[in-house]
Order: sequence, then structure tokens, then C-alpha cells
Amino acid sequence: MSQALAIENLVKVYQSGKTALKGINLSIAEGDFFALLGPNGAGKSTFIGIVSSLVNKTSGTVRVFGHSIDDEILKAKQLIGIVPQEFNFNIFTKTIDVVVTQAGYYGVPYRQAKEQAEQALQQLGLWEKRNDVVRSLSGGMKRRLMIARALVHQPKLLILDEPTAGVDIELRRSLWVYLEKLNQQGLTILLTTHYLEEVEILCKNVAIIDNGEILVEKSVHSLLGDLTGETLILDVGSILIEAPQLAHFACRLVSPDSIEVDLLEHQTVNDLFQTLDAAGIRVTSLRNKFNRLEELFIRLTGHTVEEKLI
Ligand code: ADP
Repeated sequence: MSQALAIENLVKVYQSGKTALKGINLSIAEGDFFALLGPNGAGKSTFIGIVSSLVNKTSGTVRVFGHSIDDEILKAKQLIGIVPQEFNFNIFTKTIDVVVTQAGYYGVPYRQAKEQAEQALQQLGLWEKRNDVVRSLSGGMKRRLMIARALVHQPKLLILDEPTAGVDIELRRSLWVYLEKLNQQGLTILLTTHYLEEVEILCKNVAIIDNGEILVEKSVHSLLGDLTGETLILDVGSILIEAPQLAHFACRLVSPDSIEVDLLEHQTVNDLFQTLDAAGIRVTSLRNKFNRLEELFIRLTGHTVEEKLI
């Protein structure tokens, strides 16, 4: 299968001296739905900026369907559609004009641009709104309009920079449906995100980036398979002096009325509750010590990402 994106040794040092990318290697197959997952400041926007030619790289190579951004920049650009994080269109423009104008930037002749714009609006469920001004569209429609605009020159790789950051869950899910459909139609998609759930639901492959380095690149299935076991925090209905001795479970006292217990891969919450019952310990509430994304980061880096995430 051909490579939609092949990145070798990509380095970015900003003028300030900050090294935002420290020699990244990454390859995304045609037809893939790929996530670049990482905390704020990891280098995601820098990466996308370079691939889409908005940011100059310091060194390394970037190929888009085999076309190098050094030697064949126009060809590479034609093959990419970019959806930025923020709305950046004139809200007084008619919806269809936003899309047609964009096609013009890619040199698509007007008549063809109009046809392709109509097609993109239909694909994104905006056909009924084509003659309305952007201002009158809902938040979800505006986001879909950004995707329609990115698709109007018929790129083969769609890149979305945190498409659902700050978007409520209902809207997020409705965007996912559209993205999934586009991928099923053969479009290669790369998105950056903070949300493990988004990766889990949508993506086939994922790279985790932190501090300008790729920590891991693998299938989502295998990444989630690495997440075995968890640590639970249990509030107990009495005051404890020491951690209870529980058969088969490692247990630690967190405070006089709460304990934390490690649940191994083969153990269930039911097993734990039976053991707690037998020990006469009543549990008033229960929560995970880490969310799964944090847990992944701890495993990969030895530290949490804490407030850097979301
Ligand atoms: P992310 O998109 O993952 O949040 P960025 O690519 O925006 O990460 O940033 C990576 C690092 O590069 C951060 O430390 C950020 O402060 C720095 N950075 C980003 N843009 C610039 C810039 N124009 N000049 C200097 N440093 C920058």
C-alpha cells in the first residue's frame, strides 16, 4: 500500500531556540485514519504546520504520496486538505461561496469549483444551507463547513488540527460520523487530538507525541491492549488505621477513610467487592486513580501529563 505521508528525521527549531520537533519519523498508509495524540506543547501544530507548508522545517524530509515538500511543493499541497482549529472564514459570506473561493486558491476553474463545492457541501450535510450566510449556521455546521472547504480541491489526505477541542460531546459525535464516512470512502485522515476516546472510536493507528518526540506508534487496538490492569480509589465508610490485608489484591491506605487497590488484568471489580465484603469493609464510592490517557503517559514517560491535558 502506498504511503500517504512519509516523514523522516523531521526537526524544527524555532528562532527562539526552542526545539519543537526532535527528529520525528512517522509513516501513514493510504486509507489510514491516524491520530497524533499528545499534550499541549508536544509539537502537534508544528508538525501539521510543516506538512501543510505553513511552517518551515529545520531539517528532515516530508513526502506526501511520494511527493517531497522540498521539490514538489505544489503537487504535495494539492493532495492535502487542512482543517484548522479555529473558524477563519468571513461570517457574512454565503456558505457555498466560502467553499468555491477556496477551490479558486487551488487553481480549480470556476465551473468545476462550483460543482466540487456542491459535492463537498452535500457530503457534509450542508446542501440545504448553501445559500445562507455563514453567520446563520450552528457551531456544528460551521465545523462541517471547514471540512467541506478543506475537501473542495479533492485532496487525498485530510488533516484536522484538534477538530473537536472544546466541542460538546453531542457535536463531537456528530462530527465523528462524518469523518468516519469520509474515511470509508477512501480518504486518508490524520487528526491531532487530546482525547483518547476519539482515538479509540475513530482511528486505526496512533502516534503519541510528547516534548517533540514520538513515544510510540502502533495500532490503536494494540495500544489499548497495553493498558492492562488499573488502580481504583475506594472511599470506605469507616476510619482505618492501616491498609486492610486483602487476599490477592495489593491495597494501600490513602487517607483514614480511603484506600487504593490495584486491579490486575484478570481480576474483576466483582472479585474485589467480594473480598472487601468478606473483610467487612463497606465502600461508599469508587473512582479510577488515573484516566486511561494518563495511565498511558505514565507507562511511556514515567510521569503524568497532569494539567497539560485538556
Ligand atoms: P502542540 O500543538 O502539541 O500544542 P506546538 O507545536 O504548538 O505544540 O508547540 C511545540 C513547542 O514549540 C511548544 O513548546 C511551543 O511553545 C513552541 N512553539 C510553537 N510555536 C512557536 C513559535 N512560533 N515560536 C517559538 N516557539 C514555538
